Amino acid sequence: MTEEVVSLKNAAEKMDVLLDTLDELRASVTQEKLTQIRKTLFRGQGQSFDKSITHKLAKLCADAEDCVNRFEQLLTESKNEFQHAEATALEWEINQPKFITGSSFDEVPKRPSNHAQEMQNNTQLAKNELHGILDAWLVRAKKDRVYNVELEKIGTDAKGRLQGFMVSFNNVIKAGVSLTYEANYESTILLVSRVATFGYYEKKKIHESSDILLFQRITQLAINVLQQLDQKNIITELLDWISNYHDLFSLPCHKCSKFLAFQNPDDKFLLPIWRIVSEQNGRILSYHGGCLTGVVIFEE
Ligand SMILES: [Zn+2]
Repeated sequence: MTEEVVSLKNAAEKMDVLLDTLDELRASVTQEKLTQIRKTLFRGQGQSFDKSITHKLAKLCADAEDCVNRFEQLLTESKNEFQHAEATALEWEINQPKFITGSSFDEVPKRPSNHAQEMQNNTQLAKNELHGILDAWLVRAKKDRVYNVELEKIGTDAKGRLQGFMVSFNNVIKAGVSLTYEANYESTILLVSRVATFGYYEKKKIHESSDILLFQRITQLAINVLQQLDQKNIITELLDWISNYHDLFSLPCHKCSKFLAFQNPDDKFLLPIWRIVSEQNGRILSYHGGCLTGVVIFEE
C-alpha cells in the first residue's frame, strides 16, 4: 500500500471517530432534556425551583463540553491528514478529464431537469422487475460476450427488495453495486447508492473498497459516470459500462500503445483506465488519463 493510501485511510478512520463523537454529543442533548431546561428557565412566578433540574442541566453542559473538547482535540490531531486528503482529492479532480460529455471536454452535464420524473418511471424496476432485468442482462451477456460474466445478487431488505449485487467480467474486474429505495409519493424509486470496483481475486463485500489503487481509480470514474447514465436504464447501462473493463490487462493505450504510463507522483504508473467509444467504428478504446488530451469524446 502506498504512503498516500495509508495516510488517507488514517484520515478516514479519524473522521469516523470524529463523527462518532458528534453522534455522542447529539445523543446527549435529548428532547426530554431540552424540555426540562425550557421548563426551568420559563417557570412561572410563585412556583418552587427544582434544584434537581439545575443539577441535570449542569451535568448536561459538562458532558457536552467534554464531547466538544475531545472533538476539538481529534480535529487538531488530524489536521495534517485532512489537509493531505483534501489536496489529493483536489489534485485528482483537476487532473481528471471528463468522461463522455458530448463533443468536447465541457462541464460534466447536469442531471436533466426532469430527473425526478425519470426516476419515478423506474418504479416498477424497484419493485419486481429488477430481478428480471438482471437475469435478462446476464443471459444476454453470457450469450453475446466471449469472456466469463458472473453476477451474484446480494441481500434483500425487509420488503424483499434486492440490496445489491456483485458482477465480474473475464476474471479481471468485479464491481459491487449497492441499491437503495426511496419512497416518492405513491412510487418507490430505485437508486444506485454506491458502486465500487475490485480486482477479481480481491475478497471484498459490495460495500467495501478495493485495496488496489488501479481499482480505486476506476471506482472514481464509475461514480462520475453514474450521474451521466440514463436513469431509466441505469442498471443495464452501468453493467455495460463496467464490462468495458474486461480487457483491462490486455488492451494497451490507443494513443501511446503502452500498458503502463506515469500518471502523477501519487499514482505513479497506471494502466489505461479510460474507456472511450471510437468515433470511427464504435469500438471501445482505452487511454491513459494523460493521453486523453486532444481526444474528442463522443457520446455512446
Ligand atoms: Zn497512453
